[in-house]
Amino acid sequence: MLKGKGRRDHRALPEKYGAFYDALAGEIPASRIFCDPFRTLAYGTDASFYRLTPKIVVKVRTTEEASLLLRAADRLSVPVTFRAAGTSLSGQAVTDSVLAVLAGGWRKHRILDGGERIALEPGVIGAEANAFLAPFGRKIGPDPASINHCMIGGIAANNASGMCCGTAQNSYRTVEGMKILLSDGKLLDTADPSSREAFAGSHPGLIAEIARIRDEIRRDEPLRNRIAAKFRIKNTTGYGINSFLDHEDPVDILLHLMIGSEGTLGFIAEVTYRTVEEHPHKASALMIFPDIGSACRATMRLKTGPVSAVELMDRASLRSVEEKEGMPGYLKSLGGDATALLVETRAGDAPTLARQMAEAAEMLEGIPTELPIAFTDRKDEYDKLWMVRKGLFPAVGAVRRVGTTVVIEDVVFPIERLADAALDLERRMRKHGYREGILFGHALDGNLHFVFTQDFSDHEEVARYRRFMDDVCDMVVKKYDGSLKGEHGTGRNMAPFVELEWGERVYGLMRRVKRAFDPKALLNPGVLVNDNPHVHLENLKPLPPAHEIVDKCIECGFCEVMCPSKDLTTTPRQRIAVTREIARLRAAGGPVERLARLAEDYVYFGERTCATDGLCATTCPVSIDTGEHTKFLRAGGRGKVAAMGARWAAAHFGAVAAGVRSGLAAMGVARSAFGESAMRAASEGARALSGGRLPLWNRAMPRAAPAIALRDAGSGSARRVVYFPSCVARTMGPAPGDVDPRALHEAMLSLLAKAGYEVLFPRGMRDLCCGMPFGSKGFPEEAGRKRAELESALLDCSGNGEYPVLFDTSPCLYTVKRNQDPRLNLYEPVEFIHSFLLDALEFRKVPGTVGIHVPCSSIKMGLSGRFVAVAQACAEKVVVPSRVGCCGVAGDRIFRFPELAGSALSELASELPDGCRSGYSNSRTCEIGLTLASGRPYQSIVYLADRCSRPKARAG
Ligand SMILES: Cc1cc2nc3c(=O)[nH]c(=O)nc-3n(C[C@H](O)[C@H](O)[C@H](O)COP(=O)(O)OP(=O)(O)OC[C@H]3O[C@@H](n4cnc5c(N)ncnc54)[C@H](O)[C@@H]3O)c2cc1C
Repeated sequence: MLKGKGRRDHRALPEKYGAFYDALAGEIPASRIFCDPFRTLAYGTDASFYRLTPKIVVKVRTTEEASLLLRAADRLSVPVTFRAAGTSLSGQAVTDSVLAVLAGGWRKHRILDGGERIALEPGVIGAEANAFLAPFGRKIGPDPASINHCMIGGIAANNASGMCCGTAQNSYRTVEGMKILLSDGKLLDTADPSSREAFAGSHPGLIAEIARIRDEIRRDEPLRNRIAAKFRIKNTTGYGINSFLDHEDPVDILLHLMIGSEGTLGFIAEVTYRTVEEHPHKASALMIFPDIGSACRATMRLKTGPVSAVELMDRASLRSVEEKEGMPGYLKSLGGDATALLVETRAGDAPTLARQMAEAAEMLEGIPTELPIAFTDRKDEYDKLWMVRKGLFPAVGAVRRVGTTVVIEDVVFPIERLADAALDLERRMRKHGYREGILFGHALDGNLHFVFTQDFSDHEEVARYRRFMDDVCDMVVKKYDGSLKGEHGTGRNMAPFVELEWGERVYGLMRRVKRAFDPKALLNPGVLVNDNPHVHLENLKPLPPAHEIVDKCIECGFCEVMCPSKDLTTTPRQRIAVTREIARLRAAGGPVERLARLAEDYVYFGERTCATDGLCATTCPVSIDTGEHTKFLRAGGRGKVAAMGARWAAAHFGAVAAGVRSGLAAMGVARSAFGESAMRAASEGARALSGGRLPLWNRAMPRAAPAIALRDAGSGSARRVVYFPSCVARTMGPAPGDVDPRALHEAMLSLLAKAGYEVLFPRGMRDLCCGMPFGSKGFPEEAGRKRAELESALLDCSGNGEYPVLFDTSPCLYTVKRNQDPRLNLYEPVEFIHSFLLDALEFRKVPGTVGIHVPCSSIKMGLSGRFVAVAQACAEKVVVPSRVGCCGVAGDRIFRFPELAGSALSELASELPDGCRSGYSNSRTCEIGLTLASGRPYQSIVYLADRCSRPKARAG
């Protein structure tokens, strides 16, 4: 860990950065200011193909801290870049100076006027904002495809948009107010008249310059018309200077200039949006046209129709996904020029939806299609159609050569020229050798994305990219009068071309805007306006091969929201970025000191605090499970002694489990005798003496589980089930303070007995284990052996799969199920209760509220919905905290690195309502962490189901 070294890193900073660090250090906790090589590199990475490493990273949490940071930056002339989720693609969220990171904070919101408006702090994730609004039938207007991952700060500062919002519902059109910190650290609340007044008094120069630019533009009719015309289509190239036309008051102009300003004009501390209607009824159709021309003609007609989205996909796009599971079979047999439109229509009620479907189809009469047009309003069906569209970007990412990156460009054409422009783009991709390139986009807005792979490690390849971009920019601007960026922002990527698109006059006005807001050019310099004509070709990110598990990573950051260590140490993307740098340094032979430092710090920041939960793979576009990479590293780091220990433990598993049970029993006695404080102190002392090897005791530590009486339950019944109590459940019983004092197997057997099941136990159970404890610690061979032993015992006991097999612990089941013998029918409790017991037993809801925590394994098995359904059958009110993902307990990691679960569960207690006195999950160790963090006892959902159920009364 860093500690002492942190001080040395700080001393090594260039003088003004050292002074900057000192200015912040007294006010912001040192744990949130980094200047070490590991974290500056890790946090410095964003989704773009640019790499700049900040000198200092500061996690700012409050407006006061952000103001302090800006004041210090202003005084010391230190440039600052803000970072929300870092999913930007154009290089606008990277810096080699100070990076002010919002993630982990700024998550408050206020619903206003019954959902008509919402005030959001910049760290709220877009999808979260929509979840807050869902009960009101509303949502925010901007709808980037990255909405599940990106944050309001980035959405507003990029003027991000997506498939439906077009130019009518983007941030620019729906923003109502903002709290803004200017470059001098002063706060303006545009919704507060007294703040506006005070601001006019304190910033007369800025107000006057805004008014001057406004008047200049308005006096010049051709210029006015030009600006208005350019914003009729999507445009995020340069500043949103339509603000000068659309608004009169300089403060309102300033507010709208902030939208799309990419952190170059000020800091957004809060945004208030007018919300838009979220229609409950939706239908989609995948329409196939013989060529791009007819698809574009269809789009033109639909422009005035009752449709909310029209997504175009060229033949190369369709080809990139046609082999994937779940894709419509007909994709493979389409002609060479076939083009698809995925069309969506939405309505407030079913009859209107039906009318709209018919109307949209009628509008296309006379335009040839390869297949008849068919809308579907069935969710499972239209979700499948959208899988085609959503799979495009990952499809290119997944097949690219190691070491290359995926580039996604974002241009807009006047819709009446879309067909010519699309063909032109395709031709130019081929001309420059981007044969694998695909073209798709929001056709209704003329917004096309072209995606291709690019090697930036080779000069000739960089030159090819330059030639291609020059050619495309020329074509978009000069031939079609389009926009070079429609939604992803200008960043560093398009900064050299802003003048090409807008001309000298408007570009000059944009520069004046920048100077007026930020006279010292300290806010995200180099982004959006930049004199360097080659800035888009500099600081390109290396993506060297590192390991096959992570080589496909495109560093988009979609994994970050899922990761339990995101606020403690690093995220999967950050782990991969450092892994790549270590690989690069190894291949290049140094610098040795940096390499050693990164490798050393990786142990705690990367490996030790990875929960290996694998949830990152569920949101990764190319399905990378960084936990698997961590397990690989753990396996490589094991010495001979540890390997021998693991082998012995695997071979004598029953004895090991008995030892753990005895240890727990001894701890239970000691706890009764000495009390909790003494136990805690003794365990901390013992851990310190052992150099961190001994586990830490905690107050949710369970008692030893009583032994299982291995006799059949409910003998003679027609229903049989094989019950495999996990090794954790066999050793860990309930903890003091738990609602139900029984061991898990007792509750399980009671539940099964009520449903009339005859229970069979696998032979040699005391020695059986799913293998997970070995696998997660880096002993894959022992893990495989234990899993195989268990599987064989289960096959034997279940009559080769004749009877269902029930595990009582979700992660254990998941471990076996991933590679299971197809003859076995395996269940964990939720699925078993849902499939067999909800109907077989009578359930009576317990009064009050229960909290639910769905373990990662259940999420990965797609059981979240059934988990809630079972809980709802058992309790009057069920709460699933929305801000808690993986609990970070990670088996026994809670006893060795309790800070991981502490960080992952930091919001649990505040998300549970006062009336919620107990919680339920599906994994004993997770329940320990949940109990500790929430202050409420968590137990297996089996206890709840048993408590609420009784045998069904027989008819008659
Ligand atoms: C696979 C993929 C798909 C995408 N799809 C879309 C899409 O459909 N539409 C689209 O528009 N974009 C898309 N993007 C790009 C990106 O996700 C969005 O533009 C998103 O809104 C960026 O938000 P963020 O939270 O990641 O911001 P960041 O990348 O962290 O920051 C974006 C910019 O905002 C600035 N900023 C952040 N917070 C503040 C603040 N509080 N005050 C002032 N400035 C601030 C930063 O300095 C930076 O310049 C996609 C990206 C990926 C990887």
